[in-house]
Amino acid sequence: MVRYPAAMLRWILASVGLPFLMSIAQAVAQEAPVVACRVCSNHGTVPCGKHGKLWELEQPSRGTVFCSAAADCKACAGALAVDCKTCRNAAAETELQRRQNLVKEWVQKRRKDVDAITDNDPIFHLQTAHFDLAFGIRPTMVGKEKLDTHPLMHLYGDRLEALRALYLKTFDLKEEEQAGRLQVYMFRHGQDQARIGPRVTGIGSSQSTGTKLMGVDCVYSMWQDLRSFPDDEALYRGVIHNVMHLLLCNTTPPQVLYNRKQGWIDEGVANWFEDKITGKCTNFCFEEILMMPGSSFKGGRWRAPVRKLVDEGKLKSFAEISQLNTDQLDFQDHAMSFALVDYFLAVHGGAKLRDLVRLVKQDKPIGEALQAVYGLNPLSIDAPFQQWVKDNYSPLDAR
Ligand SMILES: [Zn+2]
Ligand SMILES: [Zn+2]
Ligand SMILES: [Zn+2]
Ligand SMILES: [Zn+2]
Repeated sequence: MVRYPAAMLRWILASVGLPFLMSIAQAVAQEAPVVACRVCSNHGTVPCGKHGKLWELEQPSRGTVFCSAAADCKACAGALAVDCKTCRNAAAETELQRRQNLVKEWVQKRRKDVDAITDNDPIFHLQTAHFDLAFGIRPTMVGKEKLDTHPLMHLYGDRLEALRALYLKTFDLKEEEQAGRLQVYMFRHGQDQARIGPRVTGIGSSQSTGTKLMGVDCVYSMWQDLRSFPDDEALYRGVIHNVMHLLLCNTTPPQVLYNRKQGWIDEGVANWFEDKITGKCTNFCFEEILMMPGSSFKGGRWRAPVRKLVDEGKLKSFAEISQLNTDQLDFQDHAMSFALVDYFLAVHGGAKLRDLVRLVKQDKPIGEALQAVYGLNPLSIDAPFQQWVKDNYSPLDAR
């Protein structure tokens, strides 16, 4: 029996238009299966079967725009589907070709811009909605599972997108206030960072562990120095800290923050997200020359030491700390910066801190900015802040 696609039946009905013909045709339609190709359900393509357990990770529906490992698939070239051999479907084949070309163009550019310069271990690439990630981190234990470089890259892609979403939510920011794409390079070897880092950020030396370019173009390039980042948790925390600087600077109006005497905001926010997500703060942006890899302050748990400084009357005044650039903050200043951000977020909310950051970026003097946003001045912050620390930070608290 000849099988007519439903569309053709409808066309016949519309053309003939006779009620009795319609009833006959409907009877035929009920008998005739709409699906002409059972192999592909008339899609013209079938899902690529070569991605195994990673199939889910590659899907656009869960955030992957492009992945270089998927692009290397010999069967689908990253389109995630292959032509159905049972039927012909010109539209589907054209679309498949278009998708393959798109993936190929993307991966070739990434290889030329990154791999061709690094020539160490293979580097994977991932594009998500807001990040471009180049990734060569060694296989790593995450919880109880050892993840190879490729799935680990997808985990970092997820983490970066989640970090950005949490940042927008915390500071009550709209999508359009966070316009920039972020470029993140995570290398296994120092040599790769040495070659790419200064090239993509325009700053840093071949000795740097990590370099950042902040503002409109946001780039963070690093290698996994095992003295600073011995495991996944430490690496994740380092990425949180540094990418948070990029996000903060990229928020409208895009501007760097580290050289406006309000280093406490720059570092405090970055440390606050480290603590929020991983329960510790272990990253500092001192002048790199002063920083020993792996240095830490009070095991990364800063509430109790801040409380002790308050109890002993040794905490700096706000007037003093709000004169320091990011790289002038010492360990205690970092802990105080974290606590100040914690205080402003807890007591006054993220939207106000967002407004303060905006004024600081526009070089409004800190006194005027505080007055405009909080009705406070640099001298009237210490008392309520220190009282809040006493009420909320236990001297014994492990965190
Ligand atoms: Zn088919
Ligand atoms: Zn992938
Ligand atoms: Zn494939
Ligand atoms: Zn920092």
